[in-house]
Amino acid sequence: MARLPDKPDLEWKEEGTPVSRVFDDVYFSLSDGLEETRSVFLKPCGLPERWQHRKSFTVAELGFGSGLNFLGLLDLWLASDRRPDAWLHFVSVEKFLMTAEDAAKVLGRWSGIRAEELIARWPVRTRGLQRIMFEQFNVTLTLYVGDVRDWLKSHEFKADAWFLDGFAPAKNESMWSENIFGELASHSAEGCRIGTYTVAGAVRRGLAAAGFEVSKAEGFGRKRERLEAVRNGPMREFCEPDIFLTSVSPVRPANVTVIGAGIAGASVARSFASRGVPVRVIDQENAPASGASGNPMALIMPRLDAADTSQARFLIQSYLYALSFYRRLEPGGVKPVDVCQRAQSQAEVKRFEKLLADPPLDETWFAGDLTPDQSILTHKNAGMIYPEKIVSALLDHPLIECAFDQNINDINKRVDEADNQTLFVIAAGQQSGYILKEMQLPLAGKQGQVEFGRLANDRGVSALASGTYALSDGPNFLFGATFEDISDDQAPAVNEAARSENLEGLRTLKPDWVDDVSRANLSSRASVRSTTPDRFPVMGAVFSADDVSEALAPIRMGARVSQSAPSNPNLFVVTGLGSRGFTFAPLLAETLVSLALEAPSPLARSELELIAPVRFLVRAMRRGRA
Ligand code: SAM
Repeated sequence: MARLPDKPDLEWKEEGTPVSRVFDDVYFSLSDGLEETRSVFLKPCGLPERWQHRKSFTVAELGFGSGLNFLGLLDLWLASDRRPDAWLHFVSVEKFLMTAEDAAKVLGRWSGIRAEELIARWPVRTRGLQRIMFEQFNVTLTLYVGDVRDWLKSHEFKADAWFLDGFAPAKNESMWSENIFGELASHSAEGCRIGTYTVAGAVRRGLAAAGFEVSKAEGFGRKRERLEAVRNGPMREFCEPDIFLTSVSPVRPANVTVIGAGIAGASVARSFASRGVPVRVIDQENAPASGASGNPMALIMPRLDAADTSQARFLIQSYLYALSFYRRLEPGGVKPVDVCQRAQSQAEVKRFEKLLADPPLDETWFAGDLTPDQSILTHKNAGMIYPEKIVSALLDHPLIECAFDQNINDINKRVDEADNQTLFVIAAGQQSGYILKEMQLPLAGKQGQVEFGRLANDRGVSALASGTYALSDGPNFLFGATFEDISDDQAPAVNEAARSENLEGLRTLKPDWVDDVSRANLSSRASVRSTTPDRFPVMGAVFSADDVSEALAPIRMGARVSQSAPSNPNLFVVTGLGSRGFTFAPLLAETLVSLALEAPSPLARSELELIAPVRFLVRAMRRGRA
């Protein structure tokens, strides 16, 4: 199977309705797709009445297609009575993602349904989950690009309504199998309602067997009947012990205290504030972004892995989410740049070859140039960012209050004294490990020094990376960074050896700059990045390593555990972002907020495990080393 998702093979009816050649079926009713959405999905699911008093409402769909159902739902959401702080979450799946151009052609038929907003944010053609935010409407769209079975097996959420809109059961068994109905039930909240256009016997029986009460109603257009279903009884709960603590929901917070005003803390603060939750950010320094997030320029570029793994998907998702997030937040804080990545080793040349032979993203995202002399990947339209602008923009929100020069080492006392509606989030970089000693996180501080200044000659916008990196936005440049061990009791300090190392790196990376960069016009900055042994960040509930070891003891012998480890729902941690802080932070923040506010996670379960703070302990226990 190719890594790039398949495109649909479309044929067009005269009215502009698409038909799939693969499934030999229309995407929606030839008479009027939008009216069909309203009468087959929206009304039968009890909308808009059911969300009227809710803070959060989740609608799930089988078959995203052109996004017409999503837009019909959005239209109703915006026109209906609802709480001002309410959010709508739409989750869907699509195996054959249309191009934005085809979707625009389909949707252009209807005016006033905000098609242009969806087209402007059309999902990227890459496998796995993507979270697309429509903050202006209090709406999130989470799309899984891939097969429905893989989606439901890997992504946990609870839907309040389901739109079953696969192609006709007789033409597409994959969307309507017995397993799917079981998965629908386990992904449904109590009172969940379902709408679908089909009355096929297998669908009725499948839904009934999965615990839904099914009834027929008058159909739309040429269809005589359609189905509605409701799930009233108690829901089947996921009762396996949660070894990685990925399903621990924080308290639904009335307010949040974030410790740390770097990119991780500022992203968390902004994500909660955007959802209407007041946030207090405290930091021991006298200004935001005083540590590793405070370099004058930084680079957002992807790390593309050669195989389609959870790691690879998480890295791509973080990258796509961060770019889009910063561009919407502060357009002046991000400059588009094509990053030229030069292979550092033979192993990297092999990786580039594999990526080009079976790419995870299409040609609008990256291209390769592999010759016997050099191997280069060009990441198109990546981001050169100005951290100070970004962090200030993140914290500039009426619901965010910042306090600097604070003692953050007594945070455990503050947590103990707080009411249980306050969520504390420790996002204090390397110091997080010190504050949360009981977790025994294997964080390692790495000092990074960068050199920066103004070039004598304007070199235009450019970015090069090969282990180290060199950026220029025209007049300004920055290059580095070093990666030196530093102990927790040492303060970062600029040093001459690091400068020489950086200049040496520049000589290989960008020799034509070396003359421009005289020592006289160079400034240096050193800071500590908190890193983890597997180079993935840490986000999740705080626990005590002793309690976890006791609760999970059987895994040392490869046995099943019978209980989840205890953790603190009032205290979460986001740290270990290493050299990719600006790339990881927005999606980590969105994941945490989603857990806290009962929204579907933007990450699959295996991706949540990749960032679970307890993973190091679990791995060590499994290997008999803890
Ligand atoms: N709801 C869509 C809209 O608003 O335009 C129309 C959906 S169309 C009837 C069915 C969709 O299901 C198609 O886009 C098709 O590519 C997708 N699909 C079919 N089989 C699938 C599978 N096994 N996994 C995921 N998506 C699938």
